[in-house]
Amino acid sequence: MEQLCNISVIKEVLARHQFQFSKALGQNFLINPSVCPRIAEDGVRDPKFGAIEIGTGIGVLTNELAKRAKKVVAVEIDGRLLPILAETLSEYDNVEIVNEDIMKVDLPALLKEKFDGMEVCVCANLPYYITSPIIMTLLEQRLPIRSITVMVQKEAAARLCAQVGTRDCGAVTFAVRYYSEPKQLFPVSRGSFMPAPNVDSAVIRLEVKPETCHDVKDERFLFRVVKAGFSQRRKTLVNPVSTVLGLNKAVVSGVLEELGVKKTVRAEEMKFEEWISFANRLAEECG
Ligand code: SAM
Repeated sequence: MEQLCNISVIKEVLARHQFQFSKALGQNFLINPSVCPRIAEDGVRDPKFGAIEIGTGIGVLTNELAKRAKKVVAVEIDGRLLPILAETLSEYDNVEIVNEDIMKVDLPALLKEKFDGMEVCVCANLPYYITSPIIMTLLEQRLPIRSITVMVQKEAAARLCAQVGTRDCGAVTFAVRYYSEPKQLFPVSRGSFMPAPNVDSAVIRLEVKPETCHDVKDERFLFRVVKAGFSQRRKTLVNPVSTVLGLNKAVVSGVLEELGVKKTVRAEEMKFEEWISFANRLAEECG
């Protein structure tokens, strides 16, 4: 629907379908006409690409993706939106709506079945109550996707795109850097949504890295170490890591010293490569 970025058209569609927003589902729909084309433009960089959208709302971003991508598969949990989408997306034959919870969808199967070897990107204005779980589920499964271009809360954008070894860094930051190359694209003010949330937003893009780009002995172990370290982020790393791994503190301190890292280091001060060397050496100590 060409007019879907027009606020009066959006209001009319919602009123006609007697649609009530669900706060629990993070339903803040975009009404700023300049934002969706930008997200779609940044996300779908080749018309041969397929796109997965998470959370359609009434289809404002879906429309823009449908214009640019070869095929769009949009996963939306709220069945009340289906009759609205049937109307707002009626002119496109390259869009398929999957009425499911993104956290329960078998994504490897979906990619295989719906895209059949096509290059795929993810593009979405994410429901903020599950931003990190969605991003982690997309990355951890090592899905064959090129990039993830998503709108998230401004503070989440800063955390997800922070450099490892800085104050904004957390366990999720490390994981995002491990699986992808993150970049902040542009800010979006709270007034761009209906209803307006209490927070500002930002669009970020994660370029997914190839699987073999890090020299890691045991990936699960590495993430255990990182999570343990950030569980008490303001304290020295040695305490939580030795407790979680059941290692003597002196052994953990010794490994840090051996790597040239001060033994009073805190999780937020550790550099990306230091985490990897640290976990690789601790894995040997744990036998
Ligand atoms: N893309 C639309 C837009 O920009 O106006 C809607 C974005 S709104 C922030 C988030 C959307 O995600 C809502 O449509 C909501 O129903 C949907 N959603 C919430 N939780 C979901 C889940 N677990 N799986 C799939 N969709 C979900």
